Amino acid sequence: DPDARWAQVDSYFGGLVREDPDGTATRERAAEAGLPDIAVAPNQGKLLQLLASLVGARRVLEIGTLGGYSTLWLARALPSDGSLVSLELDPKHAEVARASLTQAGVGDLVEVVVGPAVDSLGALVAAATEPFDFIFIDADKQQLARYVELSLALSRPGTAIVVDNVVRDGAVIDPEHPDDRVQGVRRMVELLTDHPRVEATVLQTVGSKGYDGFALLRVLP
Ligand code: SAM
Repeated sequence: DPDARWAQVDSYFGGLVREDPDGTATRERAAEAGLPDIAVAPNQGKLLQLLASLVGARRVLEIGTLGGYSTLWLARALPSDGSLVSLELDPKHAEVARASLTQAGVGDLVEVVVGPAVDSLGALVAAATEPFDFIFIDADKQQLARYVELSLALSRPGTAIVVDNVVRDGAVIDPEHPDDRVQGVRRMVELLTDHPRVEATVLQTVGSKGYDGFALLRVLP
């Protein structure tokens, strides 16, 4: 069973990834609160943290908070004067996330904004918010293209953008696929192909969360 082996390999590298106790507690609190088990895996959270550190991110934007698990990994990449804005539709998810982030000691760095992300992003654009250095897009996949466009409006040259779940067990290659989320990814790919302001790649991944992939974008000068 290849899936079992993918999870075993993730677990083999677990000691190197080193999820901190607050990360474990964040996952546990989300599970206890009945939130869906759709957060990034620890090794993926660590990848986000490394990427944010590598670009020297001081300002991070996240679309899709859930229980704050990826949020915590990203917050740990920030300097003490850094900030992270995370957008979440569901007030219950936001509340669970805030409790965990406060418990983890990053409550002052992170603002969880409740509401449809398109509205929250629009408000950030309207307020001429200082551009973000790193953006993680991980909410409803139907609106991915919209999220990427709005993210670009909140970026500067050099901003790094990561989009999660863009492979979807390979379903993404089917132009007629009935799943809206697959079509959402395909619309994003159309938007990004030959886009004048972005260079991008997609990496397929396997692991404890199955077969999926990340898009990695860099905003051009
Ligand atoms: N990034 C989180 C992590 O890895 O720990 C997982 C996020 S989960 C995959 C997606 C989240 O997006 C859910 O909490 C869901 O409520 C939220 N969401 C769905 N539609 C949304 C919308 N229109 N605006 C903002 N958030 C939305």
